[in-house]
Amino acid sequence: MIRLPGLIDPHVHVREPGQTHKEDWDTATATALAGGVTMILAMPNTRPPIFDESTLALALDSARAKARCDYAQYLGAGPDNAAEAARLAPRAAALKMYLDSTFGQLRLDDMTLWMEHFRRWPGQTPIVTHSESRSMAAAIWMAQLFEKPIHIAHISLREEILLIKEAKARGIKVTCEVCPHHLFLTSPSPILGENGGGPGRGPGRAEVRPRLAAQADVDALWENLDVIDCFATDHAPHTLAEKDGENPPPGFPGLETLLPLLLTAVDDRRLTIDDIIQKSVVNPRKIFQLPEQPETWVEVDENARYELKASEMRSRCGWSPFEGWQVRGRVTRVVLRGREAFKDGKILAETGYGRNVRTT
Ligand SMILES: [Zn+2]
Repeated sequence: MIRLPGLIDPHVHVREPGQTHKEDWDTATATALAGGVTMILAMPNTRPPIFDESTLALALDSARAKARCDYAQYLGAGPDNAAEAARLAPRAAALKMYLDSTFGQLRLDDMTLWMEHFRRWPGQTPIVTHSESRSMAAAIWMAQLFEKPIHIAHISLREEILLIKEAKARGIKVTCEVCPHHLFLTSPSPILGENGGGPGRGPGRAEVRPRLAAQADVDALWENLDVIDCFATDHAPHTLAEKDGENPPPGFPGLETLLPLLLTAVDDRRLTIDDIIQKSVVNPRKIFQLPEQPETWVEVDENARYELKASEMRSRCGWSPFEGWQVRGRVTRVVLRGREAFKDGKILAETGYGRNVRTT
């Protein structure tokens, strides 16, 4: 048995308010605990998006009633909320800026809108950007200009990791995260395939933003693991009917497959247990100024070999891009703040047990 600290996932789409048929604070935090994740940072592109006092209260009211693990809620950067977001900063996980197209309505096209946020955000926590390729370079430059820390969400490309490496070497304050699906899947994916792979798997299942990348990009991420600060799932559940239907929305679930995939990479000697602790606990805690969770740990049976099956997972979305993968390492028990929260496949933490880590 291996004992790990509770993992922190800085990138989770809870889908509540507004799209609770995909997920809600109950199911998102249940699937987190089953995956060994004891703290999540919730993204703001819900319906409505979380961008001011009243929408923040809306999300936090649901979280207070339903969350089973600890959490904080992001604020979204909109076209005219820079002053209010800055005022609400102490109550938010961080500020999220959408600079490229993805799911939801929060994209900021005009750089004068970016500037207002970079100017006003207080900077105790980073500005987190969904920024791919050249918009990532522009965002890092703007963060430098306004002397604010920036965290790049879900990097996936060779050019991105190499640029961040150069920036860090020059002392620029930039951090980044990578998602398991960008480490373990390529496009076309042997699992999801050009047309979605095996029976019943439509091409919509491979839709994710940033897109799955080429093998050379995946190789560059693995070759530059030391440049990657955090592992983040970008858990972004959509139902199977939506993924296999017209206009499939981008996004994969990921909370319950994160640790088994990483532990399998440890078994394959591509990662170490210390890499997991640094990138899923130590670094996210430092970057996002998160409190320690006392008496919190995850027990793993490192020898368990089994097949990943969405039917055994707790996400409401009902599928996984890693369906059928053989993995090594199973979460057997999770203790959160002194109480058993998960044991032998059962969620024991009740709804409402989770705490907002941004309340003073
Ligand atoms: Zn996301």
